[in-house]
Amino acid sequence: MAKTGTAQMKRPKHLPLRTCVACRETKTKRELLRVVRTPDGHVLIDATGKKSGRGAYLCARLSCWQKALKEKRLEHELEVEISAEDRAGLDAFVATLPEETPAPAPTKASRGQSRTQNTVQQ
Ligand SMILES: [Zn+2]
Repeated sequence: MAKTGTAQMKRPKHLPLRTCVACRETKTKRELLRVVRTPDGHVLIDATGKKSGRGAYLCARLSCWQKALKEKRLEHELEVEISAEDRAGLDAFVATLPEETPAPAPTKASRGQSRTQNTVQQ
């Protein structure tokens, strides 16, 4: 039994990467939410990721959405004025995003009250 041929058939799955317009982090499309400017000039969240039109991507993070809306990143990215109606739709969506828990700080808890009384005694 001549066992030649190493398993070279499988190629790495290519995941398309997109950049969040707010934090500029690059993530796979699945991790980001797509906002689309429809051909008739509306701006809405494209939950399926399949709507046609110019798209912008954002993390599913409250801070990114707030930043994107506040700094008009979406408008800039999509080159469109977001109408009050569409803005209300986006705001309604943003309101569904969970409040962010601050990232666990890996830095040492430098609180004055910490009981680190480990005086080295031998
Ligand atoms: Zn982001």
